[in-house]
Amino acid sequence: MSDTVFNPRNSLSSDEVVTLTRQHNYGTWRYQKSWKPLHIVDAEGCTFTDASGKQYLDFSAQLMCSNLGHKNQAVIRAIGEQAQKLAYIMPSYATDARAELSRLLLDVLPDGLTKFFFATSGTEANEAAFKIARMYTGKTKIIARYRSYHGSTMASIAATGDPRRWAMEPGGKGQGFLFAPEVHCYKCPIKHTYPGCGIACADYLEHMIENESDVAAVLVEPVVGTNGVLVPPPEYLPRLREICNRHGVLLIADEVMSGWGRTGEWFAVNHWGVKPDILVTAKGITSAYVPLGLCATTQTIADYFEDHFFAHGHTYEAHPITLGPAIAAIGEMQRLGLVARAKEMGAYLGEKLHALKLKHPSIGEVRGLGLFWAVDLVRDQQKKTPFNTKQDKVDGKPTVVDQVAAECMKNGVSLQAWISHFVIAPPLIIEKSQIDAAVEVFDRALTIADQAL
Ligand code: PMP
Repeated sequence: MSDTVFNPRNSLSSDEVVTLTRQHNYGTWRYQKSWKPLHIVDAEGCTFTDASGKQYLDFSAQLMCSNLGHKNQAVIRAIGEQAQKLAYIMPSYATDARAELSRLLLDVLPDGLTKFFFATSGTEANEAAFKIARMYTGKTKIIARYRSYHGSTMASIAATGDPRRWAMEPGGKGQGFLFAPEVHCYKCPIKHTYPGCGIACADYLEHMIENESDVAAVLVEPVVGTNGVLVPPPEYLPRLREICNRHGVLLIADEVMSGWGRTGEWFAVNHWGVKPDILVTAKGITSAYVPLGLCATTQTIADYFEDHFFAHGHTYEAHPITLGPAIAAIGEMQRLGLVARAKEMGAYLGEKLHALKLKHPSIGEVRGLGLFWAVDLVRDQQKKTPFNTKQDKVDGKPTVVDQVAAECMKNGVSLQAWISHFVIAPPLIIEKSQIDAAVEVFDRALTIADQAL
């Protein structure tokens, strides 16, 4: 008898795996008829392998979360050791993993964040942040921004300023979330030009606070992820911090995607020395080996709950199997110096992507920070017309952006395509030679977009 407990490859053909998955699972964020899942059987370092043995370079770290790459032995060992020691215990108990991870977080998080709520996803961690902000301030409204993503449950989707997502949700927008303009200097939604604008988008947000009663918090992705790696001008977040202070409003930084070295700092807010009142994160905290989300607050907020009821919790909160591996994952980031590496490799990748822009008339803008980049496709470089519109996506057919991504896949490079842009965010362990090879494949695939102009 085999000593492998779970090995579905022994009993199912690859066709059966795909058929069973396809028939009995929902493919998310898509028309079901467009879902043709690829059967993945292995992954190591910056690559993963399908059932036919074909390898793909993971140029978006899956969903921008496999920061350590695949098969990191220290993290894998930590999962096993934690399972042997204490797989589950109610969250009202103290555990070694919980205490050790708390101590480690104090070292790596931005200063001032000292109290933690452990969830199992970025979405859940955001839900905790919203409730904490509302309980602490006694106020309801949260100002988020357009072109944002904060999660898929009822409140986090309501906080998400992306019409593709909430338009399809029961309940849609609402639940006390208001939206300020996104900070997108390439295509400023309020038609200003940086730096002459004097950061009018921050003034706009302040105007909202002044004209709304009952504002508990401002919620931002310090570097917007899914919606196109929007890096704010350097004055923006410090200004927002000042505005929040002036009006007694909390600042919540959603660093689910931008945290954990992705931008070349432990957290994106560190680039501008901004200290949020609440920081939300997930993904890179365990490099996605196990599902963990974190909502971290200041001590001032924490103190309030000493004699006020903390009305929140989950069965899987502070689950030991998620916390032990997080200690190992953060330890590995420190041991391998991955934050500095992201800065160095990111500069190299950025140069190569900027060079592509000079070559391809279908590229509108290349922008990014660290190992976190977006390449925006346009039909017209002067007018900045997006290559695809929301509508193209909704009818379920592959867009030109999707076709470019499919061509990359065909040639062994996996990268995330959104409406009219790609997010390029490889594992932080990526080598220069892998960047060279992947950019070459992307370069060739972009001719599909050039030809479609
Ligand atoms: N916030 C941001 C900024 C994200 O990028 C994401 C996921 N892409 C989420 C929240 C939601 O996290 P999760 O998918 O883990 O629930």
